[in-house]
Amino acid sequence: MAVPKQRTSKSRKRKRRTHWKLNAPNLVECSQCGEFKLSHRVCNECGYYKGRPVK
Ligand SMILES: [Zn+2]
Repeated sequence: MAVPKQRTSKSRKRKRRTHWKLNAPNLVECSQCGEFKLSHRVCNECGYYKGRPVK
């Protein structure tokens, strides 16, 4: 297994993590009830997905 020769400094670690970002949830409007829902997920309000009810 590869082992790092040099310890990553605090500064180097922090610089690398400047590219870490929070991403906003992918909200779309439900075609059934108009509520905002996560895309590619069953709607929380009406339980519909692709125009039909899902149990
Ligand atoms: Zn809905």
